Amino acid sequence: MQRMAKRLMNFGAGPGALPLPALEQAQIDLLDLDGTGVGVLEHSHRGPAFDKVLVETDALLRELAGIGDTHEILFLHGGASTQFAEIPLAFLKEGARAGYVLTGVWGEKALAEAKTVAKLKRAEAELLLSTKERAGDKETFLRVPEKLPTMEGAAYVHFTSNETVHGVQFLELPKASATPLVCDMSSDFLSRVVDFSNFDFVYAGAQKNAGPSGLAIVVVKKSFLEKQDVGIPKIWDYRVAAEQRSLYNTPSTFSIYFTRNVLRWIEAKGGIAAVQAENDKKAAMIYEVLDARKDVYTTRVAKNARSRMNVVFELENEAIEKVFLEKAKAADL
Ligand code: PMP
Repeated sequence: MQRMAKRLMNFGAGPGALPLPALEQAQIDLLDLDGTGVGVLEHSHRGPAFDKVLVETDALLRELAGIGDTHEILFLHGGASTQFAEIPLAFLKEGARAGYVLTGVWGEKALAEAKTVAKLKRAEAELLLSTKERAGDKETFLRVPEKLPTMEGAAYVHFTSNETVHGVQFLELPKASATPLVCDMSSDFLSRVVDFSNFDFVYAGAQKNAGPSGLAIVVVKKSFLEKQDVGIPKIWDYRVAAEQRSLYNTPSTFSIYFTRNVLRWIEAKGGIAAVQAENDKKAAMIYEVLDARKDVYTTRVAKNARSRMNVVFELENEAIEKVFLEKAKAADL
């Protein structure tokens, strides 16, 4: 007998909750994709059934996110963490410099990886600015810089639009400047309207808002791609990925397919602006409660950097946190 699915109100940061219609569609397509009699996991990545999925995913993403012909969209392996190393591998040439702006732990990880790669390439990955500060007995991140610093002559400047663990978000995204802008958008990709023309390179691990883990979605400006270094192994060569439409090797076909389902769901909701309005409303509701009950909850992040995606708050001590979690569980949260 088939077990009935029980669905909790899932607030997990990632892999995050996925839309029910996208999951239900996948239940059908696992057995039979589009009436082909072959399931989505079983189709060749080079056959017409999957090609249709890939074309639709690219087209929907372009349309919904407003990504123009100036940029390539790539579907790559290895999540966002692979990009931490792959970006300097591709764009930090010998003798070149890149700057990293840190507003949380993911930016720190990106810089650490870039430093390792830079050493191999006789280049420099530098800390440009960090908002790390002491708060009470620990060091933490609570804010974003007023303005993203520029770095003349740099190969790129890297920042993280939403720091998932610290709940620190650039509510206003930086505009394009003379230095190429690279953004880790993992945890707020598709959550709000973004002008992608400001960015040379955007990447996102899919598992927050777009689909399954393991997939990295990359939006890269074609003119930036031309600046890529030579001698990159093919599997990490963005130009090869672009030329071969993310089909250099077998891509994560299911992850791309599932992202398509999520994009269809966003389209049905009225697009990314509608999703953003809902996200803003949900976040405002939670922050309102946290602010109204300062006797119970502590929120440290500066108001102009409060994440709409990851609301970080603390309770007085671990014992109270335990009670909070037990009561949340009992309420199916
Ligand atoms: N960047 C950010 C902002 C993240 O939140 C995460 C995952 N939590 C990552 C990078 C790493 O992503 P992945 O696990 O896909 O490598």
